[in-house]
Amino acid sequence: MASMQSPKLVHLRDTIFALATPPGRGAIAVVRLSGEDTRALLDQVFLPSGKLNQVESHRACFGRLVRPGSGEVLDEVIAVFYQSPRSYTGQDMAEISIHGSPVLEAQLAEILAQSGARPAQPGEFTFRAFLAGKMDLTQAEAVRDLIEAQTDLQARLARDQLLGGTTAALRPARQALLALIARLEATVEFSEDDPLEAPPPPPVRPSLEEIVAQLSRLKAAFLSSAVRRSGAAVVIAGKPNAGKSSIFNRLVGADRAIVTEEPGTTRDLISERSEVRGLPVHLYDTAGIRQPSNAIESIGIEKCSAAIRGADILVVVIDASIPWDASDRDLLAESAGKTTIVALNKTDLPSRKEAGEIGDVIPSHRIVEVSALTGRGMEDLSEAIFQALAGPEGQAAPDWVATFRHRHESCVHAALLALEGCREAAASSLSEEYLLYHLHQALEQLDRITGASTGDDLLDTIFSTFCIGK
Ligand code: GDP
Repeated sequence: MASMQSPKLVHLRDTIFALATPPGRGAIAVVRLSGEDTRALLDQVFLPSGKLNQVESHRACFGRLVRPGSGEVLDEVIAVFYQSPRSYTGQDMAEISIHGSPVLEAQLAEILAQSGARPAQPGEFTFRAFLAGKMDLTQAEAVRDLIEAQTDLQARLARDQLLGGTTAALRPARQALLALIARLEATVEFSEDDPLEAPPPPPVRPSLEEIVAQLSRLKAAFLSSAVRRSGAAVVIAGKPNAGKSSIFNRLVGADRAIVTEEPGTTRDLISERSEVRGLPVHLYDTAGIRQPSNAIESIGIEKCSAAIRGADILVVVIDASIPWDASDRDLLAESAGKTTIVALNKTDLPSRKEAGEIGDVIPSHRIVEVSALTGRGMEDLSEAIFQALAGPEGQAAPDWVATFRHRHESCVHAALLALEGCREAAASSLSEEYLLYHLHQALEQLDRITGASTGDDLLDTIFSTFCIGK
């Protein structure tokens, strides 16, 4: 658990408040409070009315918002008090639903601050929930991901993580590691007590290999999950006038790129966030691979080459209405080694190319016949992109895997390095103490993921990326 260095920890006893709903006008706005003075503050600013004339824990109570001292009525509101420990943060908490007016919000903030509460820092409520043991670190991160989700899939992944999916995925490896540590420690103690009677040390190798295998599987699955979480780079490349911008627009569903009959109109790299059957993607429309005729074009071309190099999926657009030439073949040859889908475009026009000919150049590429003009085949193209991202059989990685994020992956990586150290120590017949040193390091890395063993710097980094009020 974190030491008492973190700035947020130092002020843990403060009563904090924040607007929990987006700023601006709305039917209602919710202001939440957390900390030991919550009840006293609520009693100062809120006068219950109606049948329920006193505030009870966990019950919505109708009443008036008043200015302490003058008693001026500011609004009619609903207040809910949550008695500790049955609250999000584990502390006394309150939620006051006022009418959604920035003026009222400012007035309430002013009277709360005058009464001794202070505005919350980003993520401070969730940070307190984490410290109170209401959730582990992966769940706290999931709260943020859920708020920031842009697609159904992202929201579902965040929800699974919030429900403890990531921690559950780690559990078998962690428990096997704990068991191995316990066995080795018992051997060490036994041999210290009675060196002559000590049993031979347990074989380390099989358990170690099993743990390594489990963690390696988690790590290998990381890429597809990262893609599913934040979006794969799908880059559309092809000769000028092949129809890249038209396909880009079809995929984005908007007339974002400029489409003209003059080759080379798209001077720069155009990108758009979109989704392909629920998977978030960053779509890039390249200016086409061609000789630069001026400096601006060459900057554009350099950006395009960089985009093609960085692509997770390359969509090579080929104009089926004109005969093959050398540059078509060059383009396909360049895409070798990348996950590439060939979009054979303009199939509404008489064909001058055969799909089979592409197969001769690059047998591994998936070929989809489309017409960006009529929309024919565009569904198939989306399906091909989805399958390329979700896995060879079109089966996405199991959901629990998808809940991993980069921070988790680097901890798993560090744990694997520590296990490698243990393996080497075992191979060199070093004593159990050496093996244990490496195993404890591996355990610490796994515990960093859930926050069971975490430095303050990391906590600050994670929680500072939250929005205020969460
Ligand atoms: P880019 O230079 O590769 O981005 O190509 P554009 O998307 O700007 O398209 C070039 C020209 O081809 C435009 O006149 C488009 O209307 C036309 N075009 C694009 N896709 C199709 C298609 O599927 N069928 C036909 N007939 N024309 C198309």
